Amino acid sequence: MTRHFSEIPRFKDVSQNEWDDWRWQLRNRLSTLEDFEAILNLDEKQRADLQACMGKFRVSVTPYYASLMDPDDPGCPVRMQGVPTPAELVVRQEDLKDAVSEDFDSPTPRITHRYPDRVLFVVTEMCSMYCRHCTRRRLVGGTEDIVAQEQIDNAIKYIERAPEVRDVLISGGDPLVLSDDTLEEIIARVRAIDHVEIIRIGSRVPVVCPQRITPELCAMLKKYHPLYLNTHFNHPKEFTADSKRACDMLNDAGIPLGNQSVLMRGINDCANVMKRLCHKLVQYRVKPYYYYQCDLAEGTAHFRTSVAKGIEIAESLRGHTTGFAVPVYIIDAIGGGGKTPVMPNYVISQAPGQVVLRNYEGVISKYTEPDDYVEPECHCEDCEADRKRLGVAGLFDSDTPTMQDVWAARMQKVVDRKNRMKD
Ligand code: SF4
Repeated sequence: MTRHFSEIPRFKDVSQNEWDDWRWQLRNRLSTLEDFEAILNLDEKQRADLQACMGKFRVSVTPYYASLMDPDDPGCPVRMQGVPTPAELVVRQEDLKDAVSEDFDSPTPRITHRYPDRVLFVVTEMCSMYCRHCTRRRLVGGTEDIVAQEQIDNAIKYIERAPEVRDVLISGGDPLVLSDDTLEEIIARVRAIDHVEIIRIGSRVPVVCPQRITPELCAMLKKYHPLYLNTHFNHPKEFTADSKRACDMLNDAGIPLGNQSVLMRGINDCANVMKRLCHKLVQYRVKPYYYYQCDLAEGTAHFRTSVAKGIEIAESLRGHTTGFAVPVYIIDAIGGGGKTPVMPNYVISQAPGQVVLRNYEGVISKYTEPDDYVEPECHCEDCEADRKRLGVAGLFDSDTPTMQDVWAARMQKVVDRKNRMKD
């Protein structure tokens, strides 16, 4: 049961205007033992545990998100995402600082260029709340100062020099903690680059600080279409009138919304919870896009599930609910392997001309392939220019490279991209 903020002693004197002001929310974040003691009912052990694990990774929770926490239940899915536990202090052998090797694929600070036609642009290290499961925790909260202008300038210079980049993901930290003016300056510079077709923003504020979504922000963002926003709901308890208002405003500004969840032990590792989450998302006009296997980031082992659990959830969603409401299960592979979809196998056998499939009910059927299909000679612009495909898809091209060639080409790309910044 969610409490109205006025029912929480700590916030009883806060006016509605203050509560609705995102700057007030940021200024009044909870970050000390005393802050949490004021909103949670902690026994001696819980108090000692909380004290013990403060300080290793940044802690900060908006009053809004804290108001969704169950004061008596340490297993509350909202509380688990915001309040640290001693489990964070455990570092396992498989844990990594940079869990998905973003730094390896960084040609210049603030940019990760891993995939062929898109880059990640980290414009701030600050978030409105620091999630206990964050994969970028090596970086976030390091500084809440504005990123050095020189780094922003160099990042934009890199995008200008990379004509293959058609998609820029502006992320952080959380880019929506920046002021409208600062954010607009960055977005406008990216939008002015001819070869950038789309801009995406990654932000958790619709979930943890929905007050940040203001009419002024939406009016600014809609000037830079096509612009998309991916957010990060993990549990049905995170849907409130405030988060709905935030999503509605963004949608009404023509900004398509997607959601990336993290599969987490004790929070959403249940097919029914995940289905309710997806149903809530589509009601809020947010497309369930991915759910991630929890990365091997340091201090997050206690959240990880088996991969089998992720596949079981996929099995429980596909066919059982609207296809549009089914997110793709992703493992972000270590070493810069990138986002790898994982799913149950629906093709159960094959013979020349025939494919045997099974559906979600276990019904087995046969698809008969056309016996007169021959690969056409394609005359599209890319085929005419004999543009080679990359990676595994490149193995299908006529002068088939070996996997060693594929790996060598990947390493060469890392070097070439860094060289772009040499003068
Ligand atoms: S909002 Fe995103 S980047 Fe920030 S701490 Fe949470 S998961 Fe990490």
